[in-house]
Amino acid sequence: MSIKQNLLNIKSSLPENVTLVAVSKTKPISDLMEAYDAGQSIFGENKIQEMAEKWEQMPKDIQWHMIGHVQTNKVKFMAQFVSLIHGVDSLKLLEEINKQAQKNNRIIDCLLQIHIAEEETKFGLNEEELNEILSSVAFKEMKNIRIVGLMGMATFTDNQNQIKKEFIHLKSIFNYLVTHPKTQNLEPKTLSMGMSGDYQLAIKCGSTMVRIGSSIFGGRI
Ligand SMILES: *Cc1c(COP(=O)(O)O)cnc(C)c1O
Repeated sequence: MSIKQNLLNIKSSLPENVTLVAVSKTKPISDLMEAYDAGQSIFGENKIQEMAEKWEQMPKDIQWHMIGHVQTNKVKFMAQFVSLIHGVDSLKLLEEINKQAQKNNRIIDCLLQIHIAEEETKFGLNEEELNEILSSVAFKEMKNIRIVGLMGMATFTDNQNQIKKEFIHLKSIFNYLVTHPKTQNLEPKTLSMGMSGDYQLAIKCGSTMVRIGSSIFGGRI
């Protein structure tokens, strides 16, 4: 099936409150343009240089989401244009995003990444680290970032019960965040969970943003 047809099929299956991020990492601009022409305007990339190159070449009404792990020294290459950073997992990174956003005279929306998987290798904060960030003076003073929610990745497994357990765990942390006293830089509304293999389950568990790559663009090498 074509990229356009894949995209339209997925879009029509999503509830109205769920946002689709088309994960286009490793794919050529012609593939992204096919999705764009079919109405998709949010794209997710996991490498800053690749995202910046695509941003330069593609229509300017596209919203670019950074979904990969971000190194502090690379933030400056996307601060001008990135619309949401999904994988924020330290106060240090948040400070750098705040600094680069200020230089560009803008506010950058971020999601805090929570570690919910069994694998040690996946990035993310635990609940204690999340609380440390939220209660820190440094965070409260950041005027050029806005925490708009959480992101998480489930364990890479076929065990649906395990994935479900992890999604429910993330949703419960999100519920906690929603009840946390709001500040000008904390406005939780987005829960980014679910990829090609597990997005339907993620939506049942409360996801409001799914990141889908291979089911739209085909497999990656
Ligand atoms: C690659 C990637 C996805 C998309 O994965 P698919 O299985 O191709 O849908 C989603 N989220 C993150 C963080 C990714 O790196």
